[in-house]
Amino acid sequence: MTSSKTLLITGVSSGFGRALAEEALASGHRVVGTVRSEQARIAFQAFSPGAAIGRKLDVTDFDAIDGVVADIEASVGAIDVLVNNAGYGHEGVMEESPLSEMRRQFDVNVFGAVAMMKAILPFMRRRRRGHILNITSMGGHITMPGITYYCGSKFALEGISEALGKEVQSLGIAVTAVAPGSFRTDWAGRSMTRTPRSLADYDPIFDPIRQAREEKSGRQLGDPRKAARAMLAAIAADHPPAHLLLGSDALTLVRGKLSAFAQEMCAWETTTVSTDG
Ligand code: NAP
Repeated sequence: MTSSKTLLITGVSSGFGRALAEEALASGHRVVGTVRSEQARIAFQAFSPGAAIGRKLDVTDFDAIDGVVADIEASVGAIDVLVNNAGYGHEGVMEESPLSEMRRQFDVNVFGAVAMMKAILPFMRRRRRGHILNITSMGGHITMPGITYYCGSKFALEGISEALGKEVQSLGIAVTAVAPGSFRTDWAGRSMTRTPRSLADYDPIFDPIRQAREEKSGRQLGDPRKAARAMLAAIAADHPPAHLLLGSDALTLVRGKLSAFAQEMCAWETTTVSTDG
């Protein structure tokens, strides 16, 4: 390890957040991890007393976020790296899924992450130093039926990350959107919200997808611990990437999407440029 850093990671109770916290601690970094219960906070701190610091925070408690971040800066010290990891997947056919589910999805996956960034930026800007990692998804680049709200939220976070990166680069702050493929976390298990089915017209397109996801949960290709090591490599880099895909599934699918898009752009180029002038 080259230098010890202080990481603030949202959602360290399981999955990527837990794996990154463990790997970062093992590498000699200090980790402030957010969780949603006192029991989880005590369990996290016990993991590495003094180096693992737990804070209770639901990222949709927008009014609390500035105070929590300011308190960490004052009582723990400068946060070098913010990892916006907390998030979940909503699964459901769009026509069947209430808008309230979309609001909740965006509150957690987008507004929560943005609120965290807005809280940390004044400190990082003053120091002219910092790195923000936003855990998006390959679903922030490619789409599939049945997770419209989720893909929408991750596309939003990808766009926000990329644009913010351009705003803060000259201030010494890097922003990396980390887009994992399918990994063995609680994402498709306890954490996923599933809208009940009501419209038989969607059975042929949606039922096999739901069934496959349920069957695959816990047996996905990706190892969260290896994802954590990849994120630590990005954190250690002199020039961190704006986008980092994780997993060969993400690589194949995103490559395929970009090449299909390039082909479609060519096929429609004459129409595209016909509107100038
Ligand atoms: P996970 O094991 O379910 O972990 C999700 C974490 O987020 C948990 O610690 C959870 O806390 C926390 N969380 C959820 N809602 C929260 C809220 N409102 N406020 C604060 N914390 C909250 O799943 P994961 O796969 O590691 O998910 C981490 C991130 O990776 C998510 O953004 C997810 O969309 C993304 N991702 C996952 C995959 C994958 O295949 N696993 C692929 C691409 C992207 P509780 O324990 O309190 O629920």
